[in-house]
Amino acid sequence: MSDPIFPHRQLLGIEGLSPLEINRLLDLSDPYVSINRGPEKVSGSLQGRTVVNLFFENSTRTRTSFELAALRLEANVINMQVGSSSVAKGETLIDTAVTLNAMHPDVLVVRHPQSGAVKLLSEKVRCAVVNGGDGSHEHPTQALLDALTIRRRREKIEGLKIAICGDVAHSRVARSNFYLLQTLGAEVRVIAPRTLIPSGLERLGVKVFTDMREGLKDCDIVMMLRVQIERMSGSYFPSMREYFRFFGLDREKLSLAKPDALIMHPGPMNRGVEIDSDVADDFERSVIREQVELGVAVRMAVLELLAGNAIAESATTKAAV
Ligand code: ASP
Repeated sequence: MSDPIFPHRQLLGIEGLSPLEINRLLDLSDPYVSINRGPEKVSGSLQGRTVVNLFFENSTRTRTSFELAALRLEANVINMQVGSSSVAKGETLIDTAVTLNAMHPDVLVVRHPQSGAVKLLSEKVRCAVVNGGDGSHEHPTQALLDALTIRRRREKIEGLKIAICGDVAHSRVARSNFYLLQTLGAEVRVIAPRTLIPSGLERLGVKVFTDMREGLKDCDIVMMLRVQIERMSGSYFPSMREYFRFFGLDREKLSLAKPDALIMHPGPMNRGVEIDSDVADDFERSVIREQVELGVAVRMAVLELLAGNAIAESATTKAAV
C-alpha cells in the first residue's frame, strides 16, 4: 500500500505540497538522524532494490549524500557518469529516460542544469523519481534538510523570521525554501542586491530587502546562499570585495539578527564572498555541518518512501490488468 499521507512516487519540488505532506517527510527523516549517529547505520528496507544517480551537473555533497543514503538502506547504487555516457554522444534526455526505464530501476535521482528537465524525464519512466536539483527551479531535499535542521533546533518553524540572503536569482535552494518555510508558517525575508532579485518575487509572499542591516533585524535564522558565478553571464555586482562588504555575513551584520540566530548555508561556501569564515565556523551559531549530516537522514526517508509508493503503485496496476 502507498503511504496514506504522502502517496506519490515522485518528489519533483516542494511547490504544491501540503503542510501535512511536508511534515510527513520530516517525521520520517527524524529517526534516521539518531540511527546514523549510532554504530548500526543500516536499515535494509531497500535490499535488492536499485537506485540510479543520474547527474547531468556537478555535485559533491548531494550525490554522495544520496549514495550513502541508498547504501544505508542496502539498495544497489549506480552512479551514472553523464560525461562518459550516451548523453555525451548526443542522446536526448527522453532517450536516456526510456533506456533507463527499460532496465527497471526502482528510484532515479536526477540533477539537471535546466529547470523542468527532471519533470520531463519523470513523465517517461515508471519508477520513483527524485529531483536532485533542476536549474534554478527546485532542490526539494535541500529544503527538507534545512527544515529538519531548523525544526530540531527550534522545535517548530511556524512564527520564525527567516532571512534568505544572496544570489536568490540563481538559487533553486531559495525557491524550494520559500515554498516550504512559508507553508509551515515562517515569515520569509529575502535580502539581496537588486540585480540578484528575480522579478515578481513578492508574489511568492516573501518580504524583499536590499539592505542587509535592515533585513536581518530580529531574524531567528540567517540562511546564506552561494554566489553562483557559473550561472551568471555578465556582471551582477562591481566586485567580490564590494559584494562581501554589503552582502557578506560577518560578525557585525550578524549582530543585527537575534542574539541566538542560527547561521545556515547549503554549500559549497565561497568564504570571504557571501560568508566570513569567522561566522561559518562558529560552532555555537553555525549549523552548516549539521545540515550536511541531516541530509543523509532526509534522503534515506525520501528514497524509502518513494520506492515503497512506486512498488505499491505497480502492484496495483498489475492486479488491474
Ligand atoms: N548545492 C546547492 C545546489 O546544488 C547550492 C549551490 O550549489 O550553491 O543548488
